[in-house]
Amino acid sequence: MTETKNNFLAGEWLAGDTSVENRNPSDLSDVIGHFAQASSSQLTKALDAARSAQKIWAATGLEARQTVLMNIGNELMERSAELGTLLSREEGKPLAEGKGEVYRAGQFFTYYAAEVLRQIGDTADSVRPNIEIDVRREPVGTVAIVSPWNFPTATAVWKIAPALAFGNAVIWKPANLVPASAVALAEIISRQDLPAGLFNLVMGAGGSIGQQLIESPAIDAISFTGSVEVGKQIAQSAIGNLTKIQMEMGSKNALAVMDDGDMEIAVAAALGGAFGGTGQKCTASSRLIVHSAVHDEFVERLAAGAAAMVVDNALKDGTQIGPVVSQNQLDENMAYMELAKSEGGEIICGGDRVSRDTDGYYMTPAVVAGTSNDWRINKEEMFAPIACVIKADSYDEALHLVNDTHFGLTSGIVTRDLARASHFRRNARTGCVMVNLPTAGTDYHVPFGGRGSSSYGPREQGGYAVEFYTTVKTAYISSGTPS
Ligand code: NDP
Repeated sequence: MTETKNNFLAGEWLAGDTSVENRNPSDLSDVIGHFAQASSSQLTKALDAARSAQKIWAATGLEARQTVLMNIGNELMERSAELGTLLSREEGKPLAEGKGEVYRAGQFFTYYAAEVLRQIGDTADSVRPNIEIDVRREPVGTVAIVSPWNFPTATAVWKIAPALAFGNAVIWKPANLVPASAVALAEIISRQDLPAGLFNLVMGAGGSIGQQLIESPAIDAISFTGSVEVGKQIAQSAIGNLTKIQMEMGSKNALAVMDDGDMEIAVAAALGGAFGGTGQKCTASSRLIVHSAVHDEFVERLAAGAAAMVVDNALKDGTQIGPVVSQNQLDENMAYMELAKSEGGEIICGGDRVSRDTDGYYMTPAVVAGTSNDWRINKEEMFAPIACVIKADSYDEALHLVNDTHFGLTSGIVTRDLARASHFRRNARTGCVMVNLPTAGTDYHVPFGGRGSSSYGPREQGGYAVEFYTTVKTAYISSGTPS
């Protein structure tokens, strides 16, 4: 049995009462490790330590804070090949995506290192004489971060980096499917010059330790990324304590392919957007809304592209689609393929469970044509390499279909018509809009988030993150001179 990796709490690495085993979804004979599950009393210890440490951190000079963030960012970038391999081994995304994710995580830290020095407030004269007003931001306090398995490092980091940059303490509960990446990041953070207890890694199941964390009145804010279902539970718990919340959840993103679009761009955007990360992205293009004039050509080229994609072990050279993350996810995906058939969809290619040299959760990418936007396969987030094609007879109909969902994270259009592109950009009801690009793939220095059921609370990333991780204080200062 491998050594059990522990939680990092109150400045110490501590064993838990129990542990979970973590296996490689590309090769189920490969045990990545065993990971301690934090106990309830350990969480309480972490919360107490975080409260004291946060006060010290908030009073620490800005350059010292900046150095810590730069160090973490630089180490992530320098070690992106090694840590990206670990990420791909435990999550199942192809090596290039795993390494790219860790490198990107490093860039989040270096970006927020610079933000440390950009914390400038406002001043004003009072409406009363001889009184000045100072408006500045202060840290929100102790932040609970609950992250999903599909971007184990990047999603956590785009929360942890701004939390630390703006002077907060962090209690991080990663998804239990990806603890190895979490421990690797925590090891880097644990070596920095931080007050003990400022950063805490608390591994364990969402329904137990996660729930206890978000229900704690000792938490000042909760940043969550995951499913809508869990998000709603978290919101209810948070409201009970009036805890500030920010949530990024699922989506059902659409890419609209217009009759005037470049077919090469359309097919590439659809393949990358629908099947990148094995379709397990909140920004995945799971609905492809295609103008009837180019529908048949698009479907044919898309299916040829999908059928040619290499599905194999995530760590193998040449793999374009790795396994899905778990047996549960695979079972759900297979159930969605059956649903697609029973709802009347035409399976153009893929959607099959396949074997490879190593025993893993492999399935081929599926293109389902002849679907209706009213069907469950086009309403529910599948988180699978399954793309459903919906025919539209006009741009107006396509836009209507894009917006006909309770989600609203990203959308995209492929068109050469500037007027259409501008109209779409303004009228798509999503937080992010892509023109001639896949719906997935966003930058770290600008806001990210959606509308409807996809997001709740202030935006994440870029300078906009300051809204969530700080609170505004307005101070009135009298010169003491009688007016
Ligand atoms: P879940 O909602 O199941 O879990 C997300 C996180 O919440 C995990 O760490 C989980 O822990 C934890 N959790 C579960 N129940 C509770 C609870 N009652 N209290 C506190 N924490 C809890 O999502 P997945 O991890 O399965 O991720 C997939 C989902 O996330 C998809 O729907 C996807 O769209 C969405 N997502 C959204 C993104 C966005 O930015 N909009 C980005 C990435 C994913 P554990 O798993 O250990 O039980």
